[in-house]
Amino acid sequence: MEPDAEKAFLTSHKSHHPRHLLARWRRVAKATGLKVGTLAKDAKYPIVCLAPQRPREGKTLYLSAGIHGDESAGILGLLIWAEENPLHLASCDVLIFPLFNPHGLAENTRRDSRQRDLNRCFHDPRSCESIQAWQDLVADRSFDACLCLHEDYDAQGCYLYELTREAKPLGPSLLDASNRYIPSDPRRTIDGRRLSARGIFQRKRSPKMPEKPEAIVLFDHHTNLSITFETPSEWSLWHRVRAQVAAIETVTRHILDDPQRTTEINP
Ligand SMILES: [Zn+2]
Repeated sequence: MEPDAEKAFLTSHKSHHPRHLLARWRRVAKATGLKVGTLAKDAKYPIVCLAPQRPREGKTLYLSAGIHGDESAGILGLLIWAEENPLHLASCDVLIFPLFNPHGLAENTRRDSRQRDLNRCFHDPRSCESIQAWQDLVADRSFDACLCLHEDYDAQGCYLYELTREAKPLGPSLLDASNRYIPSDPRRTIDGRRLSARGIFQRKRSPKMPEKPEAIVLFDHHTNLSITFETPSEWSLWHRVRAQVAAIETVTRHILDDPQRTTEINP
């Protein structure tokens, strides 16, 4: 990307200002026929979701960012991808959680205002109003793909978790795209778990965990392809955001360019 674009971004991104980011999402929604709904409130901020104003036929995508408030590149990456791809957004059935933890973002902290790690609440929705509202919203829905955007302060490059029942994994091409901005994490184990390939955890069955995060609950009940993408949060924000945009582009093109897809789920 051009140096001018990077400079303009770095002087105006306001990456920890939920109201600024939500105002930009409202403009995206207006331009693409989406409506902005409020899932719940946390402290003084709404937790919003975006979906088509009217039911749409076609591919179904689930995109989520910012459940951890100190991981701003996913939030900005999703917003910038949406601003750069209005035709994609206007042509498919999407459910977007653009900023799942606005209070955490404003405070630059992982947790919400009640010190909960929201990605550890999905196994027990009654423990958290926003996760209960999330569950009511996704209830019986299925998606062609789900993408959850994260960052990791220990990471030494990009990496991802891919849960898939598809014949061919998408992870390698996703990392290829993000490697234009940040290389893949070279570590062989992350958080004590051995990777399947450089930068990739890939599984066909969901791991057994007492506190199932968003991506696993989605794979268990709502999709055949659930990807969690991670950028290294100590690296340059510009490169992290562009790597996130590249990841979102790869997933959305994989779905939108495939005329043969079905969403039947067989967990
Ligand atoms: Zn995270």
